[in-house]
Amino acid sequence: MQAVVFAGIETMKVEDQGMPELQAPTDALLKVTTAAICGSDLHMYEGRTGLRPGQVVGHEIMGVIESVGDAVASIRPGDRVVLPFNIGCGFCRDCHRGDTNMCLTMNQEKPHAAYGYAGMGPYSGGQAEYVRVPHADFNCLKLPGEPFDAWEDDFILLADVFPTGYHGAVLAQVKPGKSVAVFGAGPVGLMAALSSWIRGAAEVYCVDFIPERLEKARELGAIPVNVRDGDPVEQIRERRKKSSGFTAGLRPGEAGKLSGVDCVIDAVGYQARSHRNYQQESPTQVLEDAVRLANPAGALGIVGVYMAPDPGGRDEAARQGSFVLPLAQIFDKALSIGLGQCPVKRYNEALRDLIVAGRVHPGSIVSHRIPIAQAPDAYRKFDRRSDGYTKVVIRFDQLRAA
Ligand code: NAD
Ligand code: ZN
Repeated sequence: MQAVVFAGIETMKVEDQGMPELQAPTDALLKVTTAAICGSDLHMYEGRTGLRPGQVVGHEIMGVIESVGDAVASIRPGDRVVLPFNIGCGFCRDCHRGDTNMCLTMNQEKPHAAYGYAGMGPYSGGQAEYVRVPHADFNCLKLPGEPFDAWEDDFILLADVFPTGYHGAVLAQVKPGKSVAVFGAGPVGLMAALSSWIRGAAEVYCVDFIPERLEKARELGAIPVNVRDGDPVEQIRERRKKSSGFTAGLRPGEAGKLSGVDCVIDAVGYQARSHRNYQQESPTQVLEDAVRLANPAGALGIVGVYMAPDPGGRDEAARQGSFVLPLAQIFDKALSIGLGQCPVKRYNEALRDLIVAGRVHPGSIVSHRIPIAQAPDAYRKFDRRSDGYTKVVIRFDQLRAA
């Protein structure tokens, strides 16, 4: 079978690999219909994880079950399913509590496991024709419809970025009537903007440097803020002052003590760019902006990744993932902070049902559908965020038709 393999820094290759086999009676084999390329895959692509060449990558995976082990009870060959990128066992303490992002048994090294990812256990990735699914009863989310129907682009986003954006909104305590700023208009940021509406936000801003991504944010109902037009915190403050959502019911003296918005979502992470120069990384740029922008008693939801060890960090502290933060300001403002990997299984069923009911159409952010042979080139373009490469999905219909 064909698979996308990490072949060294900035090099992905499509290679022939042996077919995966069932290794436990609780496993299933999935015939992949669509696998997406994630912003998280770029950390590996850019050599920021220490991943060894040879790994089949890809953690955003959906398809049709090909076969199941003897102990699989609820999933059958022919079922259409999407997989949470986190692999959970379903029986450990953390899985029981719904914290499948912290499964205690699936990775020898630390809590959390995923398909095709550095440091997340021995699981082969799903940017491939087939993938082995451990604990299939627990990890498969069943989907209605047929492969490659109109829902295909919507459902693939249930593997990661839609639940992750939603998790960002939960961590940032987005509720009805809240004002929200999302940093990053990549797939995760766009899904965080959509999720903020789902959770009842009154006003949503979305910050990035890339015009076509900001245009997608606008299509999703967010107010786009381009960092190239000036300090995004000041831009949001200025617009906020003029919005009726802000001025309604303000008492004398209150306005000056509010900083901007109630909820801030970081959908960028440690590869954040400096305000002044998009080519220059400034790992704490978004965190500093978030602390400045959050209202007193506000909340930050951090789903952009901060990761160590980072072979590409600019100094020893950065290589260990240690950064200086304005802690006194965070304390003084009594900000709540939530962060971490998304427990996809906590949200994917509810978000699927919103899609099926026609209430949301997350697949509108998919910019490119490619056959697997074009994956190496798509990694290059997505990594440069060029040519409108916002969300790339690898589809296996063309491959099989050929
Ligand atoms: P992405 O990396 O393409 O999106 C990041 C966006 O941030 C880009 O559009 C970039 O232009 C923008 N950006 C950079 N610096 C900025 C700044 N200072 N201010 C505002 N915007 C800035 O792709 P993505 O798939 O959306 O991933 C975003 C982050 O989410 C990555 O760090 C990824 O690893 C992480 N992620 C986390 C989880 C999780 O479970 N927590 C899951 C999936 C992805
Ligand atoms: Zn992902």
